[in-house]
Amino acid sequence: MLKKLKDLLFPEKCLSCGRIVRATPICMDCFDELMEAIEQKCTVCGKSVNDCECIKLKGIKMHFIPFWYKGKTLRRAVYRLKIQNSRSNTLFFASVLNSDIRIRLGEIEPKDLFDVITYVPRSRDQKNKYGVDQSELLAKELSILMEVPCEQLLVRVGGKQQKSLHSLARIENVKGSFVPCPRAAEYKRVLLVDDIITTGATVTRCTEMLKMAGVKTVSVAAIAKTLF
Ligand SMILES: [Zn+2]
Ligand SMILES: [Zn+2]
Repeated sequence: MLKKLKDLLFPEKCLSCGRIVRATPICMDCFDELMEAIEQKCTVCGKSVNDCECIKLKGIKMHFIPFWYKGKTLRRAVYRLKIQNSRSNTLFFASVLNSDIRIRLGEIEPKDLFDVITYVPRSRDQKNKYGVDQSELLAKELSILMEVPCEQLLVRVGGKQQKSLHSLARIENVKGSFVPCPRAAEYKRVLLVDDIITTGATVTRCTEMLKMAGVKTVSVAAIAKTLF
């Protein structure tokens, strides 16, 4: 009851700083900082975020990454995405990704280029802790906006039960492993959704697994990547 009253009195908070906003999910100050995170050029190659290939994404056909992972606005918003199930927050990032993808594809409809959208699944420990899998939520919103079906095609293996193993390196390795679901074999062209690209190792590994299952091409959509 109290929560309902609160929602009524305070309509919407900026998904980054928490300030009350009325029209958009983000306040103008945070919006300006986000725009900087789009326009910045890579400090190594001088290219824009979508053209920079300083992070090697091996075997990936196309990549759609609208933001550099910099600035407190984006970091706060992504953090919120990871710890709470907020539709307006997820929808904001899904909409940005959808626009980025559609601008890059031009006349081509996403559904003519991708058979399915899937995502890098969060570890079970993390999902249980926060109650959300941010990449799954993002992929599902993107699926609606792009009119491409969404399906889980990867399972993260390892985690808690492996902790009894003595080799630390091996534990780390297993933690980040993925196996494809049998259904992956039914799709040729996959769009893989992740939240942040840090080294590219995770999406590269997921791509390998999907291809091993029979997928022909994998493209990647992520909110942001590390700025060198
Ligand atoms: Zn704000
Ligand atoms: Zn670069």
